[in-house]
Amino acid sequence: MGKFLKKHYIMAPGPTPVPNDILTEGAKETIHHRTPQFVSIMEETLESAKYVFQTKNNVYAFASTGTGAMEAAVANLVSPGDKVIVVVAGKFGERWKELCQAYGADIVEIALEWGDAVTPEQIEEALNKNPDAKVVFTTYSETSTGTVIDLEGIARVTKEKDVVLVTDAVSALGAEPLKMDEWGVDVVVTGSQKGLMLPPGLALISLNDKAWELVEKSRSPRYYFDLRAYKKSYPDNPYTPAVNMIYMLRKALQMIKEEGIENVWERHRILGDATRAAVKALGLELLSKRPGNVVTAVKVPEGIDGKQIPKIMRDKYGVSIAGGQGKLKGKIFRIAHLGYMSPFDTITAISALEFTLKELGYEFELGAGVKAAEAVFAKEFIGE
Ligand code: PMP
Repeated sequence: MGKFLKKHYIMAPGPTPVPNDILTEGAKETIHHRTPQFVSIMEETLESAKYVFQTKNNVYAFASTGTGAMEAAVANLVSPGDKVIVVVAGKFGERWKELCQAYGADIVEIALEWGDAVTPEQIEEALNKNPDAKVVFTTYSETSTGTVIDLEGIARVTKEKDVVLVTDAVSALGAEPLKMDEWGVDVVVTGSQKGLMLPPGLALISLNDKAWELVEKSRSPRYYFDLRAYKKSYPDNPYTPAVNMIYMLRKALQMIKEEGIENVWERHRILGDATRAAVKALGLELLSKRPGNVVTAVKVPEGIDGKQIPKIMRDKYGVSIAGGQGKLKGKIFRIAHLGYMSPFDTITAISALEFTLKELGYEFELGAGVKAAEAVFAKEFIGE
């Protein structure tokens, strides 16, 4: 940036920024995990995790990334040859499919255009055609496309049937409204480095009784991810827990509880609105047909080298956004509004985007995006 200092802003959909109050928790002395002191911390932490999942079911946390929680869901619910319905509308739906393949499932795929959102009707139709399906795998927030599905509506369909609904809430938890028990979502999985405002390294999963019935019957080989071991030792962990990450999770959950989960969801909605307003004001188009409040995926305008956008924003302006994944590489860029991010982070990201687009030759009025974002925030800040 030449004569200026380069501060770093993470505006990607994970890892997200970690507040100092959480980082300093991680710097505390590592105590032995097989002590009443640590088990009590673990219990407090896992009990308060229930609030974020909006469930009375136990939440289990173990060391791995979000994909580990996804693998735990598949390994514990799917026996070789079992029929499963998998929604694939992006990179993380693809991951469900690959995991189900690895565990020998008989896969019925609902393949959608990347950016589309599966509907409750499509799930119902697939279940009517495949009444023997045991599990439905969905992605609540498909991070690769910025799409959020009608999970509540989908759960209304699956609740009435003899099928377990699993959702990947890796990027949705703590950002999009999620009421596991009230809606009747049977299994929710997540990871630490998104809405929970932590570094990567923890996976969390919660299952209701309907899901546990299937877990007990599963014939899949599993060991580290065998959830029966976690259930048996709860709130203790069968292996060595990531002690310092648990300290940090405890703090993050305290912060979320203090703020109130509805306020957390609402704050994400406002940042999402501002980001969408900004990119539209720049004449850009959203990829998603049902955009969520986790990340905004924007189509690269004609004639612009898409791969340059995140690169220039990062290397010249210090703002890390995300490019496209898989078949969307170079075709979209993604600006997150997830976790510990404020309106001023959003404005910074939009401003850096504007300078970058100008440099790349895209034509628009400099400041139009920032102005549109500010208009959304002005309503909140000063009622205008
Ligand atoms: N699912 C979704 C929706 C995600 O956004 C991610 C991470 N980007 C994952 C799964 C995988 O998580 P991890 O990289 O922590 O394994």
